Amino acid sequence: MAVIRAIEVTAIDLPPLRPINLGGRLKLETAEGVVVRIETGDGLVGWGESAASPNLSGEISEGMVAAIRRFLAPLLIGGSLDRLGALRPMLERAIVGNPAAKAAVDLALLDLAGRSAGKPVCELLGGARRRQMAVMRMLGNATIDQDVAEADAARRAGMSVFKLKVGTRALEDDVAAARAVRAVIGPEAKLSVDANTTWNEDTARDFARVTGTLRLAYVEQPLKADDLAGMACLAEVFAAPLCADEGIGRLADIEAHHKAGAARGASLKPIKLGGYIATKAAAERCTALGWHVNLAAKIAESSLATAGLLHLAAAVPALDWDLTTTNHYLAADIVKQPLAVENGVLTLPEGPGLGVEVDPAKVAEFRRR
Ligand SMILES: [Mg+2]
Repeated sequence: MAVIRAIEVTAIDLPPLRPINLGGRLKLETAEGVVVRIETGDGLVGWGESAASPNLSGEISEGMVAAIRRFLAPLLIGGSLDRLGALRPMLERAIVGNPAAKAAVDLALLDLAGRSAGKPVCELLGGARRRQMAVMRMLGNATIDQDVAEADAARRAGMSVFKLKVGTRALEDDVAAARAVRAVIGPEAKLSVDANTTWNEDTARDFARVTGTLRLAYVEQPLKADDLAGMACLAEVFAAPLCADEGIGRLADIEAHHKAGAARGASLKPIKLGGYIATKAAAERCTALGWHVNLAAKIAESSLATAGLLHLAAAVPALDWDLTTTNHYLAADIVKQPLAVENGVLTLPEGPGLGVEVDPAKVAEFRRR
């Protein structure tokens, strides 16, 4: 019988290809996260991963390790895989918040349950509606020239969905960057901008006034996470719909934004919503409200969390604001065959569970010292 026998959690530091701008003055020099390994008495193993996100969920990897070891793992040890439906609400109640820690455990349980049943994770999430998903290229460089060069290289590689990080430079530079990127990717490619809460209403209005012809797909989180009234005002100003990201941590936030007229779509991340099943419910609610949906990893998660996001992205009812994966920003991975974007799309991995094989030697190599 498949009973959970052991749970290990490891803090990891993965090297990014180069430092990544996260908006404001935040710069990511090391991709911090945790990896969870759950083993059953009959030797099956499931793996999960979440990035730390001090600027999003407030979690750091040391805290995630402690939350999992002290509050989540003890509830699971000795539990049967047949009873995961009953165990999940207990995990949610075991400790307030800590959504990224919960998401890493959720992913390991899904991988394990899939391997136990001989089914891919997307089957456990309701079945695959799509197997190939367009991947967004995020542009967050120090200079406009670098943004343009990266966009051009990505376009040549077949990518057609782009998001420009704004708010770290002077407004004129953001406007110039958006125009230059639109020029190089062409009129058909999708382009959005993400201010990561850094603008005020005046700055956002100034940006809107001079970028109306850029055909932006959406404008993401221009104002602070809790400024729904301000977002509702800006929704009247921008030609493009507004996307809420930092403002969405739970299902109730979607309802509140919808009621306030503060957004017409959301960027949903398992590390914000506390797992893959919770994120699927959020995506379904967005679609029912007529909202657009983007699914996103946190910068930067390895191919393990990327595989989880792909199974989720395959199963949600709609994904019209595409998929944001982040493993391609890393210089190293922890799975044996890293997932690679080909011609602008990622393909759903096959096989039971998540369909990727974690390399325990790599987990040990990147373990936080
Ligand atoms: Mg965002």
